[in-house]
Amino acid sequence: MTSNTVLVLYAGGTLGMLDGPRGLRPGSDFETRLRQAFTHLAAHRRDAIPPFEMLEYTTPIDSSSATPADWQRLARDIADRYAAYAGFVVLHGTDTLAWSASSLAFQLQCLGKPVVVTGAQKPLEAPHSDALDNVEMALRFATRSDLTEVAIAFGGKLMRGCRTRKWETQAFDAFYAPNWPLLGEIIDDEPVLYATRCLSPSGAPRFELPDLMPTSAVIRLPLWPGIHARQIARLLDDDTVHGAVLESWGSGNIPEDAALAGELAAASSRGTLLAVISQCPHGPVTLGTYASGNVLKDIGALAGDDMTPEAAFTKLVHLLSQPLPEAQRRRQFLSSLCGERSALT
Ligand code: ASP
Repeated sequence: MTSNTVLVLYAGGTLGMLDGPRGLRPGSDFETRLRQAFTHLAAHRRDAIPPFEMLEYTTPIDSSSATPADWQRLARDIADRYAAYAGFVVLHGTDTLAWSASSLAFQLQCLGKPVVVTGAQKPLEAPHSDALDNVEMALRFATRSDLTEVAIAFGGKLMRGCRTRKWETQAFDAFYAPNWPLLGEIIDDEPVLYATRCLSPSGAPRFELPDLMPTSAVIRLPLWPGIHARQIARLLDDDTVHGAVLESWGSGNIPEDAALAGELAAASSRGTLLAVISQCPHGPVTLGTYASGNVLKDIGALAGDDMTPEAAFTKLVHLLSQPLPEAQRRRQFLSSLCGERSALT
């Protein structure tokens, strides 16, 4: 193996799917299919692809069935082989790609080399597929020693993994990072990295690989106009729930409703970690701008700043899966662990 060899982990997703009697289903032997597809690339592009080896999971999945066990397996497989490769590419379904990339970023902190996640809107063998371009792009960025974080390569754009959301159901430009600029892009067939927007390498890697708790232990709580306190209570009053991402209005507001606030306060005093993000995709929450949001501060909810729902959720799962003292868990939620939020609020 040469020092610029990349390890490709094939987890499944549309890019590797084949037609079956009931529609597309995950296909295997992806390495042979991919190497064959690369032979059709123009010579200058083919020659620029770094050497790679493939780790193919025996049961590739549609990522709509992914669970924390899949996030954990990917992180551990990368951690176990970390020293042997220049970088890593994860081939993944697009539906929950942003969730897996966010969890990987929390598990694989302070990386000294790239982990690039990609997928495709169309299968590799479909006419006009985006699969080959996306894998080629991911491989080329995966040897950049100045990229030291989990990134998503898709549709010619390189984005921070824990800042990105799936934005399009069909268009090739399928992902978007609402609160962080592009880390790089493909220009004239060449990968261009905007290094000042990337995380700087910060010494030795800090991998946190706990046994992740089932995601049923954390809930998403989106507000809607007229939501009733008893509806919130039904979700929160559950011994198996340890965290909740409250998807509030604007800059962190909830309805002026004492009963509803009372349910949130009761959950918080039972030890449920409440994190507040905004239903607006752009911009941070700032708790306390309005009287209707101040109550969240009073009950000890944590401001999620400008985190995506995927990042806030996987961060709660990550922190709640570790035996941390409560104060440290809260402090870590409010800090940026891997560039997922801008500020301490
Ligand atoms: N359902 C597919 C998956 O997430 C969609 C895709 O890969 O684009 O695996």
